[in-house]
Amino acid sequence: MQTEQLFIGGAWRAPVSGETYPTINPATEEESARVAKGDERDVDVAVQAARKAFDSGPWPRMSAGERGRIVWKLADLIIANLDEMARLESICTGKTLFDSGKVEIPFAAEVFRYYAGWATKIHGETLALREGAFTFTLRHPVGVVGAIVPWNFPFLLASWKIAPALAAGNTVVLKPASLTPLTALKFAGLCAEAGLPEGAFNVVTGPGSKAGMALVRHPGVDKIAFTGSTEVGKQIMREAAGALKRVSLELGGKSPNIVFADADTEAAIKGAMTGIFYNKGEVCAAGSRLFVEERIHDEFMAKLTEWVKGLKVGDPMDKARRMGPVVSRQQMETVLAYIEAGKQEGARLVTGGGRAKVGSGKGYFIEPTIFDQVSNRMKIAREEIFGPVLSVITFKDLEEGIAEGNTTTYGLAAAVWTRDVAKALRAARAIRAGTVWVNAYNLYDAALPFGGFKESGFGRELGAAGIELYTEVKTVWVDLS
Ligand code: NAP
Ligand code: MG
Repeated sequence: MQTEQLFIGGAWRAPVSGETYPTINPATEEESARVAKGDERDVDVAVQAARKAFDSGPWPRMSAGERGRIVWKLADLIIANLDEMARLESICTGKTLFDSGKVEIPFAAEVFRYYAGWATKIHGETLALREGAFTFTLRHPVGVVGAIVPWNFPFLLASWKIAPALAAGNTVVLKPASLTPLTALKFAGLCAEAGLPEGAFNVVTGPGSKAGMALVRHPGVDKIAFTGSTEVGKQIMREAAGALKRVSLELGGKSPNIVFADADTEAAIKGAMTGIFYNKGEVCAAGSRLFVEERIHDEFMAKLTEWVKGLKVGDPMDKARRMGPVVSRQQMETVLAYIEAGKQEGARLVTGGGRAKVGSGKGYFIEPTIFDQVSNRMKIAREEIFGPVLSVITFKDLEEGIAEGNTTTYGLAAAVWTRDVAKALRAARAIRAGTVWVNAYNLYDAALPFGGFKESGFGRELGAAGIELYTEVKTVWVDLS
């Protein structure tokens, strides 16, 4: 692994500019690595390598079984390097080593295993429509895929794109987030050992405005798979329109977590905490708007607040800690500004509300924060904060809970908590979001599609839907007369 170089065409090479930039550990504010600052020129070389690997290389031409075995081998190598991958993820993101090592990296490996199985199961259909013709469909890889990922689950969100893209026979250029490029580079170093042909997978690190945008604009790229902010997602869609590039977008959210009075209260409190404080709230599907039915509000809030006060914020490398620092100084300032806005708008600050003091005072730690008496009109209920800040809103009944839950421009995820099956299923149908959890929060599986309604984007990653994003359907008509 060469952090100061780019991985292109199966080899490490310095960026054309020769420039590097530092990555910062958000827990210590110290430099963790120096990384190549790639730009348009590097993206051009990487896309050419991926193009060549797709147009004339072995990857799309080898048997599906062989491709599947190599994708599976990548999973084996991720697991063989689990400790190192987890450490790299934690020093860049500030997430706990537990979350990196027990959740994120193992799930990414699982995604590679899941799609390794798909390689041999991608198929078209035979449609016997009339005498005198033999008609069928084929499913082809899309071509060169440009994958652009954010910093909250750097390697996991990359795996959601790389694994299905490779399994289907595409080649990939990955642009990781500037803050968190190390796991992508580590993974690149494993590709040759897995038997992945050169050029099938490439990594260009560097700023989104340069390296990212160059990937979106490059005529040699057939498809862009993006996860990140809604704002950049919209920009990508506009730019990709030029060549009508295929685009899939997994964007932000302001997901409603709706607790009915008949819910198992303890389970719902745990779910509310996981929903907003898991990964410091830096989760696109975070349950950032908690709707509590009026009748149980006081009792529910008392217990929730007590439990949240017990949440241990601190060094992400310390096993006893459940919450590390937010990813960067800039993100910390953004989150603190939202907390200020919540106070200004008249929401009631119940707990938290500022920086958390940890050890020497270094690090971008924020206290788990709860605002009560929030309304959907407030900024803290409308905009994605992407930090450990919960907005609590009360509601009267099923209709109001759903209507208020749906009052958002986003539609990524939602949850409902109730013991009444009919109520749960009515809510699950009525909520406009790509995932609805019932009596659970933040559960994912490689086989279950994930993605958004409305301004949370479009296209579904994972599951069979993930294969659709990376294949084109062709109809073949053979005249038999
Ligand atoms: P972002 O700007 O959307 O960044 C996501 C990725 O896109 C990064 O790799 C970024 O590169 C790249 N990028 C940025 N501008 C680009 C452009 N013009 N063209 C092509 N690629 C570009 O997200 P962010 O700034 O890291 O975070 C801002 C907010 O986005 C967060 O506070 C949160 O609300 C939201 N967010 C959502 C998710 C999600 O999973 N839905 C994830 C992260 C963030 P650089 O890293 O070099 O900028
Ligand atoms: Mg940005």
